[in-house]
Amino acid sequence: MSLAEQMDTVTDGAAGTVDRHATTRTFESTDPATGAVVGVLPVHDDDAVRETVERARPAARAWAELGFDGRKQRLNAYRGYLARRMHELADLVHRENGKPHGDAILEITLAIDHLAWAGAHARKTLGSRKVRAGMLAANHAAYLEYQPLGVVGVIGPWNYPVFTPMGSIAYALAAGNAVVFKPSEYTPAIGAWLAAAWRAAVPDAADAFQVVTGYGETGAALCRPGVDKLAFTGSAPTGRKVMAACAENLVPVLMELGGKDAMIVDDDADVVAAADAAVWGAMSNAGQTCIGIERVYATSAVYDRFVAEVTEQVRTLRPGSDDEATYGPMTMASQTGIVRRHLDDAAAAGGRSVRGDADPSLFPNENYLPPAVLLDVPESSSAIREETFGPTLTITKVRDAEEALERANATSYGLGGSVFAKSKARGLDLARRMRSGMTAVNSVITFASVPALPFGGVGESGFGRIHGEDGLKEFTRAKAITRQRVALPVNLMSFGRPASATDAVARVMGMIHGRHR
Ligand code: NDP
Repeated sequence: MSLAEQMDTVTDGAAGTVDRHATTRTFESTDPATGAVVGVLPVHDDDAVRETVERARPAARAWAELGFDGRKQRLNAYRGYLARRMHELADLVHRENGKPHGDAILEITLAIDHLAWAGAHARKTLGSRKVRAGMLAANHAAYLEYQPLGVVGVIGPWNYPVFTPMGSIAYALAAGNAVVFKPSEYTPAIGAWLAAAWRAAVPDAADAFQVVTGYGETGAALCRPGVDKLAFTGSAPTGRKVMAACAENLVPVLMELGGKDAMIVDDDADVVAAADAAVWGAMSNAGQTCIGIERVYATSAVYDRFVAEVTEQVRTLRPGSDDEATYGPMTMASQTGIVRRHLDDAAAAGGRSVRGDADPSLFPNENYLPPAVLLDVPESSSAIREETFGPTLTITKVRDAEEALERANATSYGLGGSVFAKSKARGLDLARRMRSGMTAVNSVITFASVPALPFGGVGESGFGRIHGEDGLKEFTRAKAITRQRVALPVNLMSFGRPASATDAVARVMGMIHGRHR
């Protein structure tokens, strides 16, 4: 039985089961709200991963040969399939990741929008175009095109198990590559569902998008069999391991790592809107958002009003697994320990904390954390310096927006961020000077929903870009071609050129460039 057939078996039925004869080892993914088994999936070992990548090779060639229009048509069929089954997928996301159904719908919607954009813009961004040949090659035509790499490995996280990997998968496929995707061990059934959906929607290119499942070792195995690029989303420590493994085969990598994103609230900001955005940016998805807001720097002119507004809004939040809950459980139980450590560190350093009004004793289990707003936390505290990835927010009073910017930038991370300022010039100026890959002015996270904008970070937040034209080019190699249109009487690139030719070139270059001082 092939891996593709195994995956069909895995995703058959609501809970997902696997034919145990197909693989020696399996593992279970569980619902973080109830502990119920959501899926039983194969642990793909080195051989199974190699076999999958080998099957992807001819699939990549056939997929590339379909051309931009053929691929666009199939990517459209895939997004249509996802859109028609949005609630089915959202239900699986709710059960395996824990987030509310509505949030899952929003995530899937964004993924579909990116699929549409990538398919529609691949030809214009990557297709062959003529460029100016310049004076020295005036008798030549020059062409630039972006060719697919071959097989792209994608290692994805559990926090946005559809949207985040799709940022690599959609753009890599649209650029003409085959993809082998290793979802997180916390959300493998979602990964298997996405691949099964692909096979159903695009049966004639089924192996262009395959999934392997398992633990970290399966991800490590994907770095070894010679994929042509590896796109990784996760933590910086694991990112370093992935880079090291890929370095052995000179496999290029794209790194989407964590963040410690800040919001700046300037003197003239709309404080109510800023508070609303900060609370949603920090607490939605239980704070498990790489581009979530973790720190706010508010100027002394607005600090008191901002804190009062945030406090009022946070009191109404209630984590739970029902449809009215504002956010769900921590997907990874071990993350609750990190969040609690950051809260304890902040309290020990003299920080004050404001919690939501919901009674934690009524939460379904200990994976649900109440929202926490931390005030007066020293900049040396772990709640300010390390990625918390939980429903917490620090608010710090600063003299002015310049001090806010200085503190916002005083981190090794640099993923996203937000600025609230009424003046357009001031908002854009602060956004430009924020050391991050993306900044939203007068909102949060918006850049992720604009398919034309590149997504990625600086520093410990990684490098490389998904989304937009840069995201398409990320999964290609630039190819340069020249074609001689007419032969000149004197060919400078020939041993047959007369000595006087280079003297003439030197005279012309002196006239054109020599006047510049
Ligand atoms: P990891 O970085 O450990 O895991 C991310 C992905 O890499 C998962 O699919 C994981 O598989 C896989 N993986 C683990 N080890 C290896 C390896 N040696 N080689 C290749 N792949 C590997 O993140 P966690 O899920 O453990 O989360 C830890 C922290 O990372 C969080 O607390 C958060 O701070 C940050 N994070 C940031 C995200 C972001 O969007 N930037 C997303 C998720 C986490 P498996 O799950 O099977 O171990």
